[in-house]
Formats: sequence, structure tokens, C-alpha cells
Amino acid sequence: MNAALSRNWKHAVVTGGAGFVGSHLCTALLGQGTAVTCVDDLSTGAHENVAHLRGMPGFRFVEADVTESFETGRDVDLVLHFASPASPADYLRLPLHTLDTGSLGTRNALLAARAAGARFVLASTSEVYGDPLEHPQSEDYWGNVNPVGPRSVYDEAKRFGEAMTTAEAGTHGTDTGIVRLFNTYGPRMRGHDGRAVPTFIRQALAGEPLTVTGDGRQTRSLCHVDDTVRGILAAAASDLRGPVNIGNPAEITMLGLAHLIIELTGSRSGVRYIERPTDDPAVRCPDITMARGKLQWEPEVAPRDGLARTVDWFRRRQAA
Ligand code: NAD
Repeated sequence: MNAALSRNWKHAVVTGGAGFVGSHLCTALLGQGTAVTCVDDLSTGAHENVAHLRGMPGFRFVEADVTESFETGRDVDLVLHFASPASPADYLRLPLHTLDTGSLGTRNALLAARAAGARFVLASTSEVYGDPLEHPQSEDYWGNVNPVGPRSVYDEAKRFGEAMTTAEAGTHGTDTGIVRLFNTYGPRMRGHDGRAVPTFIRQALAGEPLTVTGDGRQTRSLCHVDDTVRGILAAAASDLRGPVNIGNPAEITMLGLAHLIIELTGSRSGVRYIERPTDDPAVRCPDITMARGKLQWEPEVAPRDGLARTVDWFRRRQAA
């Protein structure tokens, strides 16, 4: 067990709090006694993700689009800016919304933090590294992004968000941090959101072939959402500007992941190869030296255990 940094906040605003990662953040913050205002337009999130928080003292839901100004309430000392479509299926469906949320939305969230004198943390992504020419990726690698490819709406929105966050800190002295999250998985992912883990689990539980793109040799590094949330809160508690990578360096090929999920579900499904999307990164693995050193954080959930728990959640959800 490692001891990541922690801090007691009075009131946190979580944009995108009704999404997958955001809802776990809201839950963790409320659990440590922080009041939470969750701001979400429900474009890719759902009321259901925060249903367990409704009625809890200190929890408030504000339905709003962060590309327009939004209300935060009083005594805010932390703004976690997580609003943004994140799965390729979502951002390819919502390209302009994604760019607006990464630019105008980040600007509004920064303004809210500045007005309140709060610490601000931007959810950035390993996608800023694009199809990386360095492996593993450390924070000082600048990336290899196609600025006009289909994925650019997400990658460039996040790169712009990082630039704006950095400029805000330099210009106005706002206390900012940037976390670059690598692929995260766990409960509350949507079975049809297009990301590999929920897609494979859904297909395996239905006895359908698991659709592996390309030859399946491309890699990802999968971090359980409990670890990701601990890393985000450790970055928030620190005075680190970042960017800092938060991810699990345990790298796995997509074909390996498909077979692991078949094994964990006990499914009889096979694998079906389909076309690989344009600009799909060949490799992805975080160098987490900075997070280990500056945040005393590292992942604790082994992929096999975390995936088994996620399969259980999907099963229970289906049964319900
Ligand atoms: P998600 O789609 O489940 O959640 C995003 C939330 O933001 C949704 O609830 C959605 O309704 C909300 N939202 C989107 N645009 C908005 C807007 N304009 N105004 C208000 N709310 C808006 O995605 P997620 O996987 O939970 O990702 C959350 C954040 O973490 C994103 O910023 C994403 O880029 C980042 N991230 C996630 C991962 C991952 O593996 N899940 C990896 C890297 C970065």
C-alpha cells in the first residue's frame, strides 16, 4: 500500500461529474467529507451514474454546458475539470462539441477557479502523445498528433486545454495542475461506448465474437478507476503544475486483452478481426516516475483483478 498525498477540501466543483471517471471522483470526495457540485450537460454522462449520491449531504447536481458560464456555489476551493467526451465513438459523433468543451469549457472552468481562488485540475489524456514515437511516454515527450485526422478533435482539444491552463497559471497566478490520464476502466463504463474493455466484456457476456481491430498487436495500458481517482486526488492535493502521467504501466496487447476477458467471463466467444481505425496509436504505456516521486502514487490494482471486478459489475448490472 502506498501513501498518496491527500488534503481535505471544503467544496469541490467536478465538471463532467456524471460521467464515468467524474462520478467516481464525486463519490471519493464526498466520502472524505468534501461538498461536491457536479456540473454536467449529460451529453455522454447519465443521471444514473450519480443516483447513489442524490440526497447525500453536500451533493448538488447542476445541469449545465460548461461551454457557457455556469454556477458553482460558494466557498469553492477545488475545481476538477473533467467535462469532455472521452470515448472515440463519442468524440467522433460530437466533434465540434468536443473542441468547444476543451477550449471554451476549459476557459470557463479556469475562470470559475480564478474567481473562487480555488485550485484547478485539468483532466488531460495520454492522447496528447498521439501515435507516439517514444515508448514509454514520459511527460517531456511532445507527442505525434495528426492535427487534421479524425481523432484530432479530442487530441487537439486536450492539447489546447493544457496550453490554456499553463497560460492561466502564468498570467493570473491561478493554482493549476494537469493530469494526463491513460486508459482507465471500471464500473459505470457504458457497454456501447466503443472503448475496448466494455466492448469486449459486453461481447463476451453475450457470447458474441470479440471484435479486435487490426492484428490486435497494438498495446494499451489499463488503469483501474480506483487507482486513477487516487492519482487525481493526489495531484489535486499537491502543488504540482504538471503535466503528470496517471496510468498503469502494465501494458497489454488488444488481442491479449480479448483473451483475458474471454477467460475471466468463462465465455465461449472467439475473436473477429475488424479494420483498425485511422490514426489508432500503435503503443501506449505511461512512464510514471513523476507520479511516483512527486505524488507518492502508483497503481495498486492488478489488471487481472480489476478486470474481474469489472466483469462482475457488468454481470450484476445485466441481471438487474
Ligand atoms: P465520460 O464521457 O464518461 O464523461 C464525461 C462527462 O462530461 C459526461 O458526463 C458528459 O456528459 C460531460 N460533458 C461533456 N461535455 C460537456 C459539456 N460541454 N458541459 C458539461 N458536461 C459535459 O468520459 P470519462 O471516461 O469519464 O472521461 C472523463 C474525463 O477524463 C474526460 O475529460 C476525458 O478526456 C478524461 N480522460 C479519460 C480517460 C479514460 O480512460 N476514461 C483517459 C484519459 C482522459
